[in-house]
Amino acid sequence: MNRRGSVAIGIDLGTTYSCVGVWQNDQVEIVANDQGNRTMPSCVAFTNGGRLIGEGAKNQIAMNITNTIYDAKRLIGRRFSDTKLQEDMKSWPFDVIKGSNNIPMIVVTYNGEKKEFSAEEISSMVLIKLKEAAEKFLGKVVRDAVITVPAYFDDSQRQATKDAGHVAGLNVLQIINEPTSAAIAYGLDMKNDIVRDINVLIFDLGGGTFDVSLVNIDTNGTITVKAVAGDTHLGGQDFDNAMVDYFVEQFKRKHNIDVSVNKRALSRLRVACEKAKRVLSSIIDTTIDIDSFHDGVDFSMRISRAMFEKLNEDFFSKCIEMVEKCLGDAEMNKWQIDEVVLVGGSTRIPKVQQLLKDFFQGKELSKKIHVDEAVAYGATVLAAKLTGCTGKKVSNLVLIDVVPLSLGVDLHDGSFNVIIKRNSSIPTKNERNYYTVMDNQESITFNVYQGERSRAIDNNWLGRFAVAVPRAPKGRSSVRVAFDVDANGILNCSGVELTTGQKIAITITNYKERLSTRNIEKMLEVAHKYKLQDEEYEKTTSVRNALEDYIYDVKSKIKKIGNTTKRFNNKDLEIMEIAIEKASEILKESQLADSGQYQKALNQLEKVCVPIIAQHV
Ligand code: ADP
Ligand code: MG
Repeated sequence: MNRRGSVAIGIDLGTTYSCVGVWQNDQVEIVANDQGNRTMPSCVAFTNGGRLIGEGAKNQIAMNITNTIYDAKRLIGRRFSDTKLQEDMKSWPFDVIKGSNNIPMIVVTYNGEKKEFSAEEISSMVLIKLKEAAEKFLGKVVRDAVITVPAYFDDSQRQATKDAGHVAGLNVLQIINEPTSAAIAYGLDMKNDIVRDINVLIFDLGGGTFDVSLVNIDTNGTITVKAVAGDTHLGGQDFDNAMVDYFVEQFKRKHNIDVSVNKRALSRLRVACEKAKRVLSSIIDTTIDIDSFHDGVDFSMRISRAMFEKLNEDFFSKCIEMVEKCLGDAEMNKWQIDEVVLVGGSTRIPKVQQLLKDFFQGKELSKKIHVDEAVAYGATVLAAKLTGCTGKKVSNLVLIDVVPLSLGVDLHDGSFNVIIKRNSSIPTKNERNYYTVMDNQESITFNVYQGERSRAIDNNWLGRFAVAVPRAPKGRSSVRVAFDVDANGILNCSGVELTTGQKIAITITNYKERLSTRNIEKMLEVAHKYKLQDEEYEKTTSVRNALEDYIYDVKSKIKKIGNTTKRFNNKDLEIMEIAIEKASEILKESQLADSGQYQKALNQLEKVCVPIIAQHV
């Protein structure tokens, strides 16, 4: 708890798994959810009975493939027309359509009705589940949170993640880069052992994204990010997909059947491949068996670790290339790296470890921090600091992070003019003047982009704004554009008309463009409605379970007591059996009844059975 009496949480909102931590008794506690797990699948399912989030959703995926949503992080902050998104869509069994403003919308059938959700809304559902787990653990309401994003997330992806937090009812204190967060965890853990400035390379390979970050940690605990590199589309899922493609091909050869059109079979195969991949991290050979895989044909095939490595060779080499790029950007060579720290589930793959170790000329890799929990751990420390915790461990923490990709505007010839260079420390500001290119021009329009390509349109388009200028011969009127990147890595920009001295500042955040405030309000309402529905669903299933348990209990008592001298007389037995029969009827219906009906059935059954059984025990 902090000075204000509230507790802030740290959330690692992962592509495949998410994790939440709280600050308690001057240390981080990673919270286990209601299933007892410390990480939770970032998965949401819509069923006829209700909504499932986390393990519950993931476990029923093969039975409900079109309404079980994963990978929201691959959609968040992206445009529908994005080529990567179009590519991803081919592997998703759920439908994604183009919504207003080019926002991708996920379509599901929920309680018999078609519904559309943005990635922000799906992510907010995962966030709510994590928030609730933290609240249950702490026994109090949580409002503030630090949420992590891949270092390589662009501005719109960061802003959209912040929006998701807002929709989940969280006040997002800060968006922080995942590898930087892991660096905090490492720095804190190693505090007493750091006797001089050290350079640490954080290698974070998860399910969906890959980030490398080179940080300097000094003896006071100040963490300065020197450079980041990575790929928002490289991780465990790509390795799973490579295995799926391989097996589809093998299956075709063996049975002359093309299963690539059978989405359900592919989904089952993907789940099996992910499991097999994990197994191959500890043993060198495994078999995948799936009953009635396609048209009654079973699936049974072997895969070796060597084959798995071959299938993913290119992905693995790309990871090493990124490490080189990061070193280059930081103007360092590999000998200057003191520690190489592994983060993310996919760093368990032996080949990845070996390639990295070889690259660093046999250097031992540091496994001191927990690969699945370090990101949430660091975010929790920062959350504690930002809410005013004064404990010794957090008060010294100073973070200096960087902009992952250059920011700038397009020029009239279509080239990209950088205003803030990549790897600049944040927060940062820069200004630049732009002049009219035609006589009597009435305004100058700026398209804001983020990326490293020299042609503006090859970069990520973030938004557009125009500033009116007084009519004059070309080159006489000008606008000063200011870019300001805050501690979240989020950009605000403004344009000021200078020639007349009149200052018109326009701020664009693509927040307005993507999701207007009204839209967010609507999402909040929907989130609230679903929360109430979920509560009703939980209540209903819990009374239904209580009814089922009681019927089971009575039946077993009848059996048990029936074998003793105190056995029931025939009349009592008959009364109880009729009552059980009646109560069981409601359980046979496929649709869920409302909680009141189950409660009534339970009450009636208890009224009959409790007094009879009481006489016989
Ligand atoms: P993210 O943060 O992107 O959700 P995580 O860091 O939680 O990802 O890592 C999840 C990924 O790690 C998944 O693709 C999972 O299959 C993979 N993974 C977990 N354990 C192993 C293992 N033992 N061997 C190989 N991959 C693993
Ligand atoms: Mg992660």
